[in-house]
Amino acid sequence: MLRQEMDLAAIERTFRGLKNLSWLDLTGGEVTLREEAAEIVQMILRQAKKICIFHLSTNGQLPEKALLLAREAVRHRVVPVINISVDGPEEVNDRLRGKKGAYRLSLEAFRKIKGLKKAHCYLSCTISKLNIAHLDALLLELKRDVPGFDLADLHFNLFHNSGHYYQNQDVDAACGSEAPVAQKYLSLCQGGNPVKIWLEKAYMKGLARYYQKGKAVLKCQALSSSCFIDPYGTVYPCSIYDKPVAELRDYDFDVRAAWNGSASISVRKSIEQGACPGCWSPCEAYPAILGDMAKAAFS
Ligand code: SF4
Repeated sequence: MLRQEMDLAAIERTFRGLKNLSWLDLTGGEVTLREEAAEIVQMILRQAKKICIFHLSTNGQLPEKALLLAREAVRHRVVPVINISVDGPEEVNDRLRGKKGAYRLSLEAFRKIKGLKKAHCYLSCTISKLNIAHLDALLLELKRDVPGFDLADLHFNLFHNSGHYYQNQDVDAACGSEAPVAQKYLSLCQGGNPVKIWLEKAYMKGLARYYQKGKAVLKCQALSSSCFIDPYGTVYPCSIYDKPVAELRDYDFDVRAAWNGSASISVRKSIEQGACPGCWSPCEAYPAILGDMAKAAFS
């Protein structure tokens, strides 16, 4: 059966109950493909007025639309952080993305958004077995193709598997023996605003320990202070752990009620006991790092 994405009314009801939300990652699929994406951003920022981190990931294939969303955030006095995917030098990127011209469109989106005064915009490369041999070439091409390119304009991620987010559960592309090489690239791009620099340093420290111990060393915040909601309104602990805990439709789009439902409580406990696959993906590690900092500040 074809699943229905949440409509505007459902999204509005969902965010009406999230007035204290401080961090939002708006991601895909591809956000810019949604026809009413600008209305969605407006509606969210009207409801959740305490958002201080508004992060948007895009493949950059609709540069004008991505720019429109960034402008919408700025109009609501939020400084958006926009990440635009680039998976390698032009030939590798376009092959992996299955689209000739994809690299050029990503760079166009980057240039347009970078021109906005009150937005932080980065090119974002997910390192996997498929592109790790081409990252030096990527750096050279970015220097050639992006006027004034600085390493701080680039952000590296690590490939992770996720059934409900990336639909790549059967893809064997995570860096295994190539992990030290991946670490080298990840540590190259620690620049930008002070918060980004601090978070990336903390992330790298955690990454080294993650590779040593095979699991994250900080308490993950999934279902403690964060969760992942897919476009259909299914709630998951995070973008990696493929364990649905609630359908928002069953709770009349009341996230608080879904959060306190019996399935959420039981999965929260199971995560504390180490039942999840474990990860150190920036999307999930950054809240863990900030949660750890808050715990230290209040203890
Ligand atoms: S450690 Fe990673 S996979 Fe496990 S629940 Fe936390 S964020 Fe999800």
